[in-house]
Amino acid sequence: MILTEFMSLGLSGDLLKAVAENGYDKPTPIQEKAIPLILEGRDLMGLAQTGTGKTAAFGLPLIDQLMADAQAVQPKGTRALILAPTRELVNQIAKSLISFLKQTPLRVTSVVGGVSINAQIKRLSRGTDILVATPGRLLDLVDRKAVDLGTASYLVLDEADQMLDLGFIHALRRISGLVRQERQTLLFSATMPKQISELAQSYLRNPERVEVSPAGRTADKVTQSVHFMDRKAKGDFLLEQLQASPQDMSLVFCRTKHGAERLMRKLSHSGVAAGSIHGNKSQNQRDRAIRDLRDGSINVLVATDVAARGIDIPGVSHVYNFELPEVAEAYVHRIGRTARAGAAGEAVALCAPEEIGLFRQIEKLIGIDIPVASGEVPPMSAAASRGSRGGQNRSSKQPSKKSFRKRSQGGDNDNRASAKPSRRRRNNNRKSAA
Ligand code: AMP
Repeated sequence: MILTEFMSLGLSGDLLKAVAENGYDKPTPIQEKAIPLILEGRDLMGLAQTGTGKTAAFGLPLIDQLMADAQAVQPKGTRALILAPTRELVNQIAKSLISFLKQTPLRVTSVVGGVSINAQIKRLSRGTDILVATPGRLLDLVDRKAVDLGTASYLVLDEADQMLDLGFIHALRRISGLVRQERQTLLFSATMPKQISELAQSYLRNPERVEVSPAGRTADKVTQSVHFMDRKAKGDFLLEQLQASPQDMSLVFCRTKHGAERLMRKLSHSGVAAGSIHGNKSQNQRDRAIRDLRDGSINVLVATDVAARGIDIPGVSHVYNFELPEVAEAYVHRIGRTARAGAAGEAVALCAPEEIGLFRQIEKLIGIDIPVASGEVPPMSAAASRGSRGGQNRSSKQPSKKSFRKRSQGGDNDNRASAKPSRRRRNNNRKSAA
């Protein structure tokens, strides 16, 4: 295979081989834009839809630079640090990187919570070239003096918006202070709430901004629809849909762990091969559920947002929003689980009258009217009079602070982060802008 387009981005020969082995014949738009800039050593703020090839967009040039700058790995050290919000995403990034590293002597190590820390301490003792981590577990390891982040010259923040949603802002601040100040920083986010632009200003030095589609826009290849119905009718409706096309591979999103578990049981009892993935599941159970969906042992995975974030399962044909997310941006992430790498996919939302406020917020964010497939569109006033979770309709111009916090986990932190970047970072920015 002649990889002319990848070659023209400036990647070295070994990496081109790895790219070919992965079956990529031409770069995706984010790769085309980001790779040359990263190879030049620029800080980067990458705004890309989910499933657009972000991992290779930062992974390939990162590996290329680590190869070119053949430095020894320090005990407990890492030459590059990649942070991601969830265990699944960390594992997935590490897996992709390993597939690119086959032709190189570089080593990748990943650390996540929910599994033994001792094994991780042992693995880190000899140092690594690339460390992929969730912020919480990384700081545990820092506190145990198992890792020295002062050796890292590259910092990647992936799915930065979700890290903020999960309340990781303090962890990110602390980690950023531990990584070498002379470094290259890359920040990727699928959506661009105001807090992320502000975070970028305090973490990046004179960054290039790369965008492959407008903020909050959904993947082009996803066909979206909404069915309006009562909350109680949703379970049977979903069951009918799933039973009508058993060949589909579906992800079903619920708002709560208990809701997800209940729905999974209902589907299983009715003969649908379903599994679930949420915060009450152990890491092994989560990995197992993803494996089962990948290998076809189940064809429906019921998930909550936190657990499903960032997972990449090729072949997901349908994403059902069984319950609409509390934060509109999560809708973009959810439906980004289908139509990955150019395939087509369907996103089906089930909307109860009390969710109409959330639904309108989603439409506003993605900038399109989602086609109505069935049911009566409930009036906005219905949602308001039912007291739908505090000021979430279009007419409420100024949601109270309390309702905002309730909606956005870690929203407090987000606000603080955006209002007050640390003085040291502000000074650094000034220096680098000069
Ligand atoms: P990501 O957005 O990094 O999660 O990537 C989404 C999916 O796209 C993964 O399954 C990748 O293996 C795949 N992918 C990434 N880059 C390319 C490419 N240039 N050509 C084909 N598939 C790709």
